[in-house]
Parts: sequence; structure tokens; C-alpha cells
Amino acid sequence: MTENYDVAVIGAGVIGTLIARSLSRYNLRVALLEKLHDVAQGTTKANSAIVHAGFDAKPGTFKAKYNVRGAAMMPELCQTLHVPYANNGALVLGFDDDDVPVLESLLERGRRNKVPGLRLIGKEELLAMEPNVNPCAVGALYAPSGGIVSPFDLAIAAAECAVANGVDFYRDFDVARINQHDTHFSIYSAAGKKRTAKLVVNAAGVHADDVAHLVGDDSFHISPRRGEYLLLDNTQAGVVNATIFQCPSDMGKGVLITPTVHHNILIGPSADDIDVKDDLSTTDPGLKGIQTTMRLSVPGYQIKDVITSFSGLRAHSNTGDFVLRPSLIDPRFIHAAGIESPGLSASPAIAAYVVKLFADVWEEELSEKTNWNPGRPKPLRIKELSREERREAIKKRPEYGRIVCRCETVSEGEIIDAIRAPAGARDMDGVKRRTRAGMGRCQAGFCGTKVLEILSRELQLPPQEITKFGAGSQILLGKTK
Ligand SMILES: Cc1cc2nc3c(=O)[nH]c(=O)nc-3n(C[C@H](O)[C@H](O)[C@H](O)COP(=O)(O)OP(=O)(O)OC[C@H]3O[C@@H](n4cnc5c(N)ncnc54)[C@H](O)[C@@H]3O)c2cc1C
Repeated sequence: MTENYDVAVIGAGVIGTLIARSLSRYNLRVALLEKLHDVAQGTTKANSAIVHAGFDAKPGTFKAKYNVRGAAMMPELCQTLHVPYANNGALVLGFDDDDVPVLESLLERGRRNKVPGLRLIGKEELLAMEPNVNPCAVGALYAPSGGIVSPFDLAIAAAECAVANGVDFYRDFDVARINQHDTHFSIYSAAGKKRTAKLVVNAAGVHADDVAHLVGDDSFHISPRRGEYLLLDNTQAGVVNATIFQCPSDMGKGVLITPTVHHNILIGPSADDIDVKDDLSTTDPGLKGIQTTMRLSVPGYQIKDVITSFSGLRAHSNTGDFVLRPSLIDPRFIHAAGIESPGLSASPAIAAYVVKLFADVWEEELSEKTNWNPGRPKPLRIKELSREERREAIKKRPEYGRIVCRCETVSEGEIIDAIRAPAGARDMDGVKRRTRAGMGRCQAGFCGTKVLEILSRELQLPPQEITKFGAGSQILLGKTK
């Protein structure tokens, strides 16, 4: 594998992977450098998973422009990459006279941002759409173009597509030093590994300002803003159909309740500015706060059906907008930074724009590959097949007949496929995000050991070396007998 590249993308979240996929269309040598053990282990794994319609962002900002554009691109992209997406619509509830002008101003903002189909609805229509919403609501802003997506599936699929199209993916490559030369950058990992690239894209999420500092660029600052969530079992499916917001505040879009594409119910997030960029803890006040706030929107959801809690970190930039531009220090160093919400919704449009920024700086001929494949093979999901299709699949590969995760009906064959895929799973969380083994009610209580055995066998590693999410997260420590 060559170690000299035309372009290196730093960070394999949804932004970096979609940029790498878009660059893989051209005859370029592309490296995707990720400090963690897998793609989608940063903010991309822990967010609300909403494809926002785009009525919230301030008109004229990158956030507004690329949210609306990205949301329009999302259905086709998800179809091409076989990523779960649903157009479930969004509602912002109003509860009293103070909320009415807020809803009107969101409507006006959304119209200026060119959000399609936005309108205010009265109580009767609201309750007909969402019978479990608090009957004290006086009305709502309705955004029919709102959607939901699986954010980590999107990043994983983009990485698979990029790697299949020739991108080299390096995990555990924590970019710690960058030297600038006339013709290229030398990029060093904390462990001393070196790659060179003529251009660099900085898509390092909450650490994008730290990566910018490596080339002497301190033009923006990122602070982490933590959001905590509760995830409810799919037994609560149907409690809401659309994504239900309350009126937004200065700290963000506020607490929401939404179905996920996998038929769970998600409530959250809180919004707390914190000091430590990797602090993903959940807190008693944070989780209690979102429960109380959510009772106002949907009083009857069942808290007994919570199956897990988690938190994610918004990459809040002091510029107030996405930082999408070449560095002022060196135009060959392009920032895709400060991508807080609606960054997931905007991600397809951001990737397209970053490729344009790249083309503006790239001095050589930029030719397209004749054999570029924009998609990836559709992953087989035994749960989604008819009896006849299952029988056929099992006849060809008996591993599809061995169910490992009973909560989510995931077979051994699907786990093997996830490990063998381009940029495939290398740890327990990687298998979980790709197949859903361990995502159900028992949270890997039953299937965990079996998944570990399969990883050990497929990767030809002793079981003690199999981790939950990379270095320092070993599961087995040694023999007891
Ligand atoms: C609570 C919350 C709710 C949200 N809800 C929504 C929503 O509903 N809809 C929406 O549109 N957006 C939402 N967002 C925003 C969305 O999640 C982000 O915009 C998106 O995930 C950002 O992706 P990213 O690739 O920039 O960052 P990340 O996913 O964090 O990826 C950055 C990657 O860079 C890597 N990295 C960092 N430093 C280095 C280094 N030195 N060397 C190598 N690699 C490095 C990290 O390990 C990480 O994998 C939400 C965010 C949060 C936190």
C-alpha cells in the first residue's frame, strides 16, 4: 500500500467518509485517517439521527443552505448506499400564547431557507396526526420534508463505498503532527506512522481546531456541547410517528421525541457546555431533565421501556456556523469543521461543496474514473427476507441459518459479512453498528460472547485481544480457572 497520497481526509465520521467517497470518484490517491478503531465512533454514532427540514438555521448561513440541500439529497443517497431512511415529517409544538410568535418566526425563517411544504397547523389536525401528543398543545409548525436516518450506517456505507473505489482507510491513526513542505504535507500519527499528502481535508469533529493548530491555524475554536439521550425499546414503536420538537432555545433545537429508522423511540438531547472533549458520560440530572421535558410533549410514553442511555458531543464553533473553507495559513489545507447540528442532514451537500473547494485548489488535471461505483452491495438482512428468500440464503450459506442475536434476529452470516466488508468491523461495537447484534433489549447480554468468538475466529486473534471499541476496551482479561 502506498504511503504517499494526493489527499488525506482526517476524521472518519459522516463528514469525512462522505468526502472520501466523493473524492473516490476521481483518479486520485486518497487516504482516510481515523484516530479511533472504526468509522463513526465520534459524534456520528450519538445524535438525534434527524434529517432536519431546515427551518431552524439562520438564513444565509452555511447551516441553512446545506441543511436544505442535504435533506433533499438524502433519500437518493440512502437508496444508493442501502442505508435506512424514512420521511416521517417533523412537528414543533406550541403550548401557549408565547409560543405562537416563535412558531411564526420559524415558519418565516423556513420559507426564507426554501424549506418545502412548511405550514402551521391547529390542535385538531395535530391530534389527528399524533394522537399521543399532549392535548394541551395549541398547534404546531409542520415540516413534511423532515426525515430520519441511521447516521452510523450512513458513515459505514460511505466508507465501504470509498474503500471499494480505492481509498485507503487507516484506523488507529491519531494525527499528532503535520509538517508543511512546498509540495506536500507530512502527516504523523501519535505512534510515529507517516503518510504524505498534497492536500489535506480536516474533518476531525470536536477536535478539528486541535488539528488546525497542527498547521498553525487558530482561526476558530470548537467547544464540546454534550447532549444526553434515552433509547426506548421497539415495544414503544408508534407512540409518535413524526419527530416532535418543542420551541427551540439559544442552546439548540431543544428536547425531541422521535422514532428511529429501526423502530425504537429516542428522547433527548440535553445541552450542556462541558470542558473535556471526550467526556461522553451520562448524568442523573441530564437524563431526569429530558424525561421531565418530554412529558410535556408526549405524557404517556413508557419510561420502563428504556433500554439504554448515551451522550454525544456537538462540535460548537465560535464562528456560529460551519467552517467550510481553505485554511488562511495554507489553502491546501481545507476545513470541514464546526459541523454541529444540522451537520448530519447537511452532510451530502457538505461533501459536494468540499470537493468543489478541493477542485479550486488542486492544480493538476482532475479526471473521473470510468468504473466508479457510487453504491455498495446491499447487506443481507435475514430479518427482512421472506421465508422463501431465507431458505435460499441458508441453502447457499448455512451461517445465515444460525441466529446469534435473538432480540434483533441477526445471523452469524451477517456478522461474518460485516467483518469481511471493506473497512469492516474489527470490534464488538463495529459488529453492533453494522448488523444490530447487541442493539436490542438485552444489549448484548446473550449474544456478546458469541459475537466475540466470531470476531476472534474471523480476525484470527485470541479472544483476549477482541475489544469493545479498540485499545483499552478488552472484554476478557484472562482465565479464571
Ligand atoms: C446531541 C447531538 C444531536 C445531534 N442531532 C443531529 C440531528 O438530529 N441531525 C443533524 O443533522 N445533526 C445532528 N447532530 C450533528 C451531527 O451529529 C454532526 O454534525 C455530525 O455527526 C458530525 O460529523 P463529523 O464527521 O464532523 O464528526 P465526527 O463524527 O465526530 O467525526 C470526526 C472524526 O474525527 C476523528 N478525529 C478527531 N481527531 C483526530 C485526529 N487527530 N486524527 C485522526 N482522526 C481524528 C474522530 O475520532 C472522529 O471519528 C447532532 C449532534 C449532537 C452531538
